[in-house]
Amino acid sequence: MKTSFYFKLSQSAILASVILFHTFSAAQADTLADNLAAMEAQSPINITTNNTTFEKNLSPLLFTLNSDTQLKVINNGSPLVDKTAARANVVDPGAGSVTVGGDTYRLSQFHFHTPAEHLENGYKFPMEMHMVFADAKANLLVVGRWVEEGAFNAALDPIFSHLPHSVTDTLTVNHFNLNALIPDNLNSFRYDGSLTTPPFSEGVKWIDLAQPLDMSAEQINAFSSLFPNGDAREIQPLNGRTIFTDVPGFATVAVVPEPETYSMLLAGLVLIGFVAKRRLANRGFMGSIA
Ligand SMILES: [Zn+2]
Repeated sequence: MKTSFYFKLSQSAILASVILFHTFSAAQADTLADNLAAMEAQSPINITTNNTTFEKNLSPLLFTLNSDTQLKVINNGSPLVDKTAARANVVDPGAGSVTVGGDTYRLSQFHFHTPAEHLENGYKFPMEMHMVFADAKANLLVVGRWVEEGAFNAALDPIFSHLPHSVTDTLTVNHFNLNALIPDNLNSFRYDGSLTTPPFSEGVKWIDLAQPLDMSAEQINAFSSLFPNGDAREIQPLNGRTIFTDVPGFATVAVVPEPETYSMLLAGLVLIGFVAKRRLANRGFMGSIA
């Protein structure tokens, strides 16, 4: 199975719709409901050990990210908009890119949701970051990353210590290191999905990085207090889509079982048999004491 097929897009998503979308009328909502009824490849989803397929040769992610770039952070969480997020627009269009499967996508913005939108085996992280990339034809690729509570994140402090509290506020961050958004370990989950905000356009390539981003409880609270009802969309049905992962040991399904997989399975069964025998033996021993 070729892995690069994953990045041959069958449907274009419209970047402009993400950027220009501001208000949402009742008539638009009716149209959207009609459109949504016909959509079958929506995001976010619950990523589980049972619905992922292991593929150790996923196309490598080659990030090129500026370590000193300017951001314009806006709060687009207007009550007029259904579910949106605080967003950091990257001012320099060449500041960040990712090349994967031979296609290069430029970073236009990154934003956050609370709680997380994608679930991992049903677990809901407190936040999730989305880096939105687009290629020359405006095909979208989103790199997602869960946020977990941990150490204070100094790189994100210029954003999270001065989050814009209203839709009229814009925060300018003059020296931001985009590399701070990406982990060392680039193992991921990949599938075809959609925008998670109106108009929920499909044809979006999703790459959810497995290694979460650490932020302190104070930083997470600073964001979630802006969106007391959350700004996350509920999970959507998979409808037969395949989620590929190169995270070792995560998926219960392998694309092509390899000989060593069988021998490991056999070894595992032998081990289980051994442990079971030991348990029986121990139970007998304990029984004799009681
Ligand atoms: Zn998002």
